[in-house]
Amino acid sequence: MGARCFTVRTFGCQMNVHDSERIGEVLVSAGWAQTDDEAHADLIVLNTCSVREKAEQKLRSLVGTLRPARARGAIIAVAGCVAQQEGERLLATMRHVDVVIGPDNIAELPALVADAEVGAPPVVRTTFDLDEPRFLRVAPTGHVAPATAFVTTMKGCDERCSFCVVPYTRGPERYRPSDEIITEIASLVARGTREVTLLGQTVNSYRDPSSSTSRDPTHGHGSSEGESEFAALLFRIAREAPALARLRYTSPHPRHVGDELVRAHAELSVLVDHIHLPVQSGSDRMLKRMIRRYTRREYLERLGRLRAVRPQSSVTTDVIVGFPGETRADFDETLSLVREVGYAQCFGFKFSRRPLTPALRLDDDVSEEEKSARLTELFEVQETLTRESLAALVGTRQEVLVEGFSGTGADAPESPRQITGRTRRHEIVHVTVSPDAPDLTGALVTVHVARANKHSLVGELERLSAPRPDATVTPVARRRTRLPVVSV
Ligand code: SF4
Repeated sequence: MGARCFTVRTFGCQMNVHDSERIGEVLVSAGWAQTDDEAHADLIVLNTCSVREKAEQKLRSLVGTLRPARARGAIIAVAGCVAQQEGERLLATMRHVDVVIGPDNIAELPALVADAEVGAPPVVRTTFDLDEPRFLRVAPTGHVAPATAFVTTMKGCDERCSFCVVPYTRGPERYRPSDEIITEIASLVARGTREVTLLGQTVNSYRDPSSSTSRDPTHGHGSSEGESEFAALLFRIAREAPALARLRYTSPHPRHVGDELVRAHAELSVLVDHIHLPVQSGSDRMLKRMIRRYTRREYLERLGRLRAVRPQSSVTTDVIVGFPGETRADFDETLSLVREVGYAQCFGFKFSRRPLTPALRLDDDVSEEEKSARLTELFEVQETLTRESLAALVGTRQEVLVEGFSGTGADAPESPRQITGRTRRHEIVHVTVSPDAPDLTGALVTVHVARANKHSLVGELERLSAPRPDATVTPVARRRTRLPVVSV
């Protein structure tokens, strides 16, 4: 009899993508095999996101569609933020669910599933690991390394942005010791990973639990303005993993952009030329109601300092439109800020009321039509900026980290093939190569940018700047195409 198969469906942000990979790893370690074929999976895990509206209703209808799978004996597990937020209530309303498991309990999944397989009643496990935080790492030594990888630095969030459910579904901030982070990165790099993205809800509020300042109870975890120990972590990674080609991080909070982080951007060539700095609104009145704890002027000043030391950096952001009380004038301030910064990309969302959040007390007084109209307007402004930003790169040379083959010709051996990758600024680049070109996945290549599409670049291969270090690099997962839905 072959190994039992599982499949994971992921919703939401990169943190969830990362968690899904860890879910896969703990199951594989327990003897399960991963499959894309949900129709024959013995275990179906739904890794949910509660940031957007109606998450629970959507989950309920999704679970309804799994009734035939349940009827043939498949186990259904609900993980992620909806699981954490709803807990027992999910079991009460969704009779086809066997296991409800929170983000901090992933390691317990194989045992809970094993119990379910022998007839144990449905179970909920959603306890935050406050005393001894556990950070599941990328597959241990010996496994194939991806060309790019996420590495967790912290979990939870101590901010209380009034629109956001994350502090309630992910708990308070808990930090991973820097030794553990460095060890994981070194192991990835040794096995061929070229780019690491450090992950955290407010990644730049990081404090090293093993350092003396962090053990000082007066030091104020996550609450102090400006400096954290995040920049020190960046310097240490650069020093102790010198073969790493690129280092990214997401998502920073503007109020933790301090002198040391600016210095890191000035001095560390391993840091990419891309800053994702969520702003949410250009109106001070809205920023205050959102409890963002910075003003428009402060945001621009901090971003300006990061840009001054790395002028070639692209800048991207997140914006919420239609927050309670947002007037046309407030929204115009957001548009003016978007134009002033000249973002390369902007991820816009309509405000929606989330359970447990402070904004529930505010009157959701911007109509749905108006929210939609503002979002459309925001996207129109951003389309122009994105076009300009991409057009400015035509004729330049860019270093591209090849992530794998994209559609064209990938399945037809005789036709030219197209490889795809990202610049240091995070633009997607497509390059046509001959049918017999070697697999360049994981290689750094120099590309001459020939033209700009609406959301990507088209380039010509000039040279291989740095081949992949060994043959164990696997293509980057295609799902990693955007920045987080949940960010600061
Ligand atoms: S938006 Fe970000 S910083 Fe604010 S509460 Fe949510 S996760 Fe925390």
